[in-house]
Amino acid sequence: MSQDTNQKCGVVAVIGAPNAGKSTLVNNLVGQKVAITSAKAQTTRARLMGIALHDQVQIILVDTPGIFAPKRRLDRAMVSAAWEGAQEADAIVLMVDPIKQRRHEMIPLVEAMAKRPERKILVLNKVDKAVKEPMLALAQELNDQVAFEEVFFVSALTGDGMGELKDHLAGMMPKGVWHYPEEQVSDASERLLAAEITREQLYQQLHDELPYDSAVRPESYTQRKDGSIEVRQQIVVGRESQKPIVLGKGGSMIKSIGAAARKELAEVLGVKVHLFLHVKVDENWADDKEIFEEMGLDFGR
Ligand code: GDP
Ligand code: MG
Repeated sequence: MSQDTNQKCGVVAVIGAPNAGKSTLVNNLVGQKVAITSAKAQTTRARLMGIALHDQVQIILVDTPGIFAPKRRLDRAMVSAAWEGAQEADAIVLMVDPIKQRRHEMIPLVEAMAKRPERKILVLNKVDKAVKEPMLALAQELNDQVAFEEVFFVSALTGDGMGELKDHLAGMMPKGVWHYPEEQVSDASERLLAAEITREQLYQQLHDELPYDSAVRPESYTQRKDGSIEVRQQIVVGRESQKPIVLGKGGSMIKSIGAAARKELAEVLGVKVHLFLHVKVDENWADDKEIFEEMGLDFGR
């Protein structure tokens, strides 16, 4: 890597209640999809990272799972992964959806943040939909509790206000050579991203018929002689009764999920993709160490 002395490089942790728009923000800053987004809470599981470039500045974004009261093992692992991401970051961004707010999840986060030594930025998202007055009142309220250096009002979806935010974050990064090659946009392997893209389609196409405790496991990822990629994945559900939902009538649902995921993956990778999906029932998958590690999470005790 070049030893250019003008280079800057740092870490920004993105924290917030589920659905605040953290993944959308990371994708916007990176300029392409690296994290899956969903209208359903808790889509983000692992500490997925996006890498954004801004002139001579490399911004490493840690897109954390939403932090909330952990009960199950999976939830606890997600919470500790989230705070780990904030440790010694050059900036912590608190993302807030001023419409839904999700105060029971946001307020503990605000309290924990007030005690942290890192530099903090407040981002109120979804200005394309939010009503101005209550949004300003909320910004004031949060500002009274945490020493935010700066407040931004953005729409991560439309890009409104994102230029200023990116400029500011870039300005906060310390001098230092880039940690990653110029063209790298994520630390997730393509194999894992492929599984995430399938999971996103599960959420999109099944809506509320499937609880969020399903998983997509990468089985194999190989390049064929013609340069195309062959991907095999397993969709794991917790109950026998969920299997026909994922399969659909005559296999129509899994076919449709596979088609959409294959199309998207082919676009992201820029090559032809062959995707093979099958469904497995495993009541105890949420207690399976191997599945945790595949998702980049710590199984814990
Ligand atoms: P996360 O759970 O914090 O990572 O949130 P996501 O990035 O997955 O976003 C949650 C939902 O909010 C998705 O349906 C997004 O499309 C939507 N969303 C994110 N940013 C905006 C925004 O600026 N405006 C609007 N209207 N919706 C947004
Ligand atoms: Mg997310």
